[in-house]
Formats: sequence, structure tokens, C-alpha cells
Amino acid sequence: LNIELKKQIGLPSITKDNFEVSLAANIGTPHDVDSVLENDAEGIGLFRSEFIFMNRSCQPTEDEQFEEYKEVLQKMGDKPVIIRTLDIGGDKNVPYFDIPKEMNPFLGYRAIRLCLGNVEVFRTQLRAILRASVYGNVKIMFPMISTMKELRDAKKIFEKSKEDLRNEGISFKDDIEIGIMIEIPSAAIISDLLAKEVDFFSIGTNDLIQYTLAVDRMNSKLSHLYSQYHPALLRLIKGIIDNAHNAGIWVGMCGEAAGDPKLIPIFLGMGLDEFSMNSPSILSSRYIIRNLYKNEMEQIANKTLNMETAVEVEDYLSCLFAEDN
Ligand code: PEP
Ligand code: MG
Repeated sequence: LNIELKKQIGLPSITKDNFEVSLAANIGTPHDVDSVLENDAEGIGLFRSEFIFMNRSCQPTEDEQFEEYKEVLQKMGDKPVIIRTLDIGGDKNVPYFDIPKEMNPFLGYRAIRLCLGNVEVFRTQLRAILRASVYGNVKIMFPMISTMKELRDAKKIFEKSKEDLRNEGISFKDDIEIGIMIEIPSAAIISDLLAKEVDFFSIGTNDLIQYTLAVDRMNSKLSHLYSQYHPALLRLIKGIIDNAHNAGIWVGMCGEAAGDPKLIPIFLGMGLDEFSMNSPSILSSRYIIRNLYKNEMEQIANKTLNMETAVEVEDYLSCLFAEDN
């Protein structure tokens, strides 16, 4: 670690005018936790649980999953860990789920859709997370929510899983926060309604960009169109944050944009509460945040909301927040 960044260890992620945010890390497996702690993340904002399901020939059992979740929770102590339930499908396939070949896998049978269609898979995972919950500070998040019904169905299965464990005399934490990823435009648009049913949101910009701009995130031919500076995306994000706050819930972001030095000031200005990113970006992001005034960033964020093109936004932010500033 370079010396300037090392100085950030142990400091709060707070602006010059005392607006504190949380800087969290994204992980795929328990092995990633060492780097999370080394880089002094304040929690895990996204544990992509599907990695436990990948590169193997059959589904992990409840006990196998329990061990993985427990390990992460124990290592993190009382710091929050957001476990995202299975997000398989799209570009991430697992042979044993037998997902039929689709014309448009990213618009297909994946994530929460697959879990609601295979309730046993979902229930097994929720039970494993619940059992592990006594070892740390876990929160649960559902991916790819596109309708209110999916959220309510997922919550029902979660409640039923708790009831089952209670009947079996197995202990778990009863006050686990439940959140959803906002990564589909329909969810962003009805985020005022969804906010009344959850404890938090996490904005998944990787998919939100893909679906908002109708640009396949894996198609390199379209990479010039896949932009996190598109004004449509920034307006959508502003709306999500406002809707969350109006409903009294907190909102984070766990897509790649959350770790972009040029966008951090903008999301800070919009009032984002939590930024979750790859561990190596944590300390430099803290440095950025500690050198900004939130009230100034509000003005700058508002300015970008009225810009016409992604290039205009990016150029403007590059001038203001060039890496060597
Ligand atoms: C996202 O879509 O922004 C996200 C964080 O999820 P993933 O990249 O795993 O789809
Ligand atoms: Mg996603």
C-alpha cells in the first residue's frame, strides 16, 4: 500500500462538512475477506453467493453453504455483511441447474426468477444464511427484482424458512435487514413503492446500465455505448436515492460505478449512503471522500443531471476530479 493511502486506515469515511458514508467491499468467496480487512472496508456490501455454486458438479448442500457464510461472518466480526442470494443465469451458468438455452439469457431465467421457480434451492440457501446469522452481522439482498410480486414472494419464502427453523429449535437472528438490488429499470421506476417493503436498496449499476441503455454488458462491440456517465442513468440513480430516503431507508451501490473516482463525488452529492467496491479501491475512495464538501457536490451533481450526453458528463467530471488533483 502506498504511504498516503495507508494513512486512511482507521479513519472514518466522512466529508469535510461531516457527512459520513460507509465504504464497503464486494466479494465472491471467503478467501476475499483478507483483502477486505487489509483495506479497512467498513463492511461487505455485496457477497456474490453464486460463486459458491460455480465450478462444481452439484448444488452445495445447506451445510456446505452454512460453513461458507459462517466463515465470512466470523472473519468480519460485527461489521455488516450483505449476502446476495443466488444470481445465476445471464453470463453465469451452472450445468446442474439445467437452464434451457435462451435467445436472450440476460433477459431470461436468472437470479430471483430462478430461485422463485426452484423454491427448494432458494429455501436451502436462506436456511444456510439464517443458521449462519448468529455468527455476525448479516443482511440479505435479493437480486434482479423487477416486480413487487417477486419481492413479496421472496419475503414470504424467507419468513417461512424462519418459521421452519423456529419449529426445529434452530437459532438465528430475528432482526435481519432485508434489501433488494435495484438493477432493472422497472424496479428503479417503482422504487418509491418497493422502498416501503424493504430495509435498504443497493443499486447495481452494471446491470442497470445494460438494461436502461439496451446495451449487452458483455458485447465489446457496444462498449462505446455502455457508459456509466449517461445522463439517463444519473437521473435514474438520483430518483432511486430520493425515493429510498423519502421512505426512510438507506441506499447503497455495489456496481462498478460505486468505485469510480469521477462518480463518487456525484453520488455523494446525491446522498448515497454506502459505496461498495473491489477492496483495492477502498482507501483511495476514502481519501477522495475526506477531501470533499458534500454541499458542493450537491451543486455539481445537479449540474450533471441537466447535461445532454455521457461525453459531456465525463469531460466535465474529468476536469473537476482529474486523478492528480
Ligand atoms: C450489478 O449488476 O451492478 C451488480 C453488482 O451485480 P453483478 O455485477 O453481479 O451482476
Ligand atoms: Mg447484477
